[in-house]
Amino acid sequence: MNPVLTFLALFICSLAAGQDDVLITSDFPGGNIEILSMDQDTIRLKPDNSFTKGEWFYWYFKASNIAGKKITFKLEQENVIARYGPGYSINNDHAWKWYGENRILENSFTFSFSDEDSIAYFSTAFPYLEKDLDQFLSTLVNRKYLEVDTLCFTPEGRAIEKVLIKPVLADPDHKILITARHHACEMMANYVMEGIIETLLNDNNCNQVRNTVEFMFIPFMDKDGVENGEQGKNRIPRDHNRDYVGDPVHHSTAALREFVPEWGDQKLAIAIDLHCPWIHTSINETIYVVGSSDPEIEKGQIMFSKMLESNANGDLKLYHKDFIPFGTSWNTSSNYSAGMSFAKWASTLESVQLSCTIEFPYANVSGIPVSKDGARAFGKAVAYSINDYLQFLDQ
Ligand SMILES: [Zn+2]
Repeated sequence: MNPVLTFLALFICSLAAGQDDVLITSDFPGGNIEILSMDQDTIRLKPDNSFTKGEWFYWYFKASNIAGKKITFKLEQENVIARYGPGYSINNDHAWKWYGENRILENSFTFSFSDEDSIAYFSTAFPYLEKDLDQFLSTLVNRKYLEVDTLCFTPEGRAIEKVLIKPVLADPDHKILITARHHACEMMANYVMEGIIETLLNDNNCNQVRNTVEFMFIPFMDKDGVENGEQGKNRIPRDHNRDYVGDPVHHSTAALREFVPEWGDQKLAIAIDLHCPWIHTSINETIYVVGSSDPEIEKGQIMFSKMLESNANGDLKLYHKDFIPFGTSWNTSSNYSAGMSFAKWASTLESVQLSCTIEFPYANVSGIPVSKDGARAFGKAVAYSINDYLQFLDQ
């Protein structure tokens, strides 16, 4: 959150709060909220849209001094609560859950805390930060294939991780690049990425690909935005996923644009960018591949989208019918007037056969609630589909 707003929020909060009042804060990694007012049992809030053109819907706050209280939280911005209610975690249990769609009334929800509850976190969905990546990487086995390095440092001095999975005994035949968080708020993409990484490292069906292909993952393209709790989407002057033409505005895109062509070494075959769409309605509540304006790239995307459909056997399905060709829905040239996307840029690199954006919803996939494990299972389907696509290329 913007430090000035954080200070103001805390100041206003402390003026309003007596010793027994609930305390609302966002001064922690990923935190984002503006407090509008606090009454006895009703707190009015809205997302902090700093650095964003227009409004977006990410928010994440901590409530403390809550034991035994019944509090109503009212969000004073439309469309900021997803289908199954807010994500929440009580008493630092890290077991993020959906509060429930029937508990939302006119953008507000009421929570009755037990006498044992001391801290509650609420958010748009299930936050994913650097500490979550560190925790995930520390649990991985088969580490001889794994290398964690740094792509570059951010303006605020944070390292942007570069996670490599590469053959141990031979040079790779192909290289593959997978990114996430060009838009800082799109947290659920990282659970999908976890599923891809874990499958590539440990699944028997990926033995061959693990020993012949080098993968590079960039989990947080907008690392400062992620840790500061910013929207990232529609960032002013242009967001990270429009920063692939002309002089780059952001450190990570500059570093990637310089590093990848050399690293790719005529072997970069596939580039995938993981995103989360808007929060509600039709297409935004399905998993889908975004179509390219280049007919040759689109052919590969359609094949890959069908492979994803056949491999997504978990609860969270992708249906190829939800593929959105270029020129339809929001996927038109006017959407890219601010600059070039990662997927478009990658599709122009020599040797790239498949470049695409996959959109993965925050909360609702065709009527099924998103869970961390469900997202990871979809990541497994992505890994299997990469395997299938490479087999097609090598025919
Ligand atoms: Zn996005």
